[in-house]
Amino acid sequence: MMMKKIRVIRIALSVAVLLVTAMLVWQGHNETLAHYQLTLNLSSMVLGVLITWLIVTLLVGRVYCSSVCPVGTLQDIAAWLDKRLRHGGKGHYHFVFSNNRIRYITLLLVAVAMTADQRYTGHVARLLDPSQLFSDCLGVHGSFTAPLFGFLGAGIALVILLGILWIAYRGEGRSFCNTICPVGTVLGFLSRASLYHFDIDTDLCTGCNQCVQECKAQCINPNDHTIDLSCCVMCVNCAASCPNRAIKFTNTRKRLSTPLMQPTP
Ligand code: SF4
Ligand code: SF4
Ligand code: SF4
Repeated sequence: MMMKKIRVIRIALSVAVLLVTAMLVWQGHNETLAHYQLTLNLSSMVLGVLITWLIVTLLVGRVYCSSVCPVGTLQDIAAWLDKRLRHGGKGHYHFVFSNNRIRYITLLLVAVAMTADQRYTGHVARLLDPSQLFSDCLGVHGSFTAPLFGFLGAGIALVILLGILWIAYRGEGRSFCNTICPVGTVLGFLSRASLYHFDIDTDLCTGCNQCVQECKAQCINPNDHTIDLSCCVMCVNCAASCPNRAIKFTNTRKRLSTPLMQPTP
């Protein structure tokens, strides 16, 4: 019951933040976003905000991705529509191994693009920055700011955002977040070692797979009862759906009772 309440609060918070962010962008107050959002645009990034989110991620995982990022919340809305319209309201996800090669190559390319000629590659890199992508798509005052392309840049940003939402709607959950998004990759580095995280108590788990089907990050491995913390976006879906309260928010890691069933490192 407690986890279900936390999940409702988390969803309400994420929708409220999305609406506030949309309103700020619409009214041209893009600079205000820097006071709570992460962006690849380091010149507009507030150092205190960056450090705060890095510490929060180290402590409790990718809360930023579940509650603050507008592109994350939009993907959740697309995934919710998919669940309602195409799956009769039932969870339908399955575990997918994270593709770290694509994650790290993308992050490297974006880092190179950002440090190269800002007149060209920097503006290309911003198309993969969720904060700037959202602003470029929605704003009307100084928001069509992709200076390289002007309105064309805004159009490209919109196409990319719609593509991301289409992936979520087609049942791939947070694939963009856990494969392409450079911000997600950086946060994933930290969250894999987060102090508090969700963990499966194998003594209570009956293997019903309910949590796996509800995990939009597709990061719960039902074979070894582990959660890939680098991909987990702290949405609370798994804990709220578990009929046996086998998923805990904890600072410990439960190991399988039978040593032979331990996953290989
Ligand atoms: S991974 Fe990127 S797009 Fe996804 S929620 Fe996190 S910051 Fe936003
Ligand atoms: S929902 Fe709970 S009982 Fe079912 S597989 Fe997941 S952890 Fe185990
Ligand atoms: S493991 Fe649980 S909290 Fe993490 S993304 Fe999956 S459902 Fe959400």
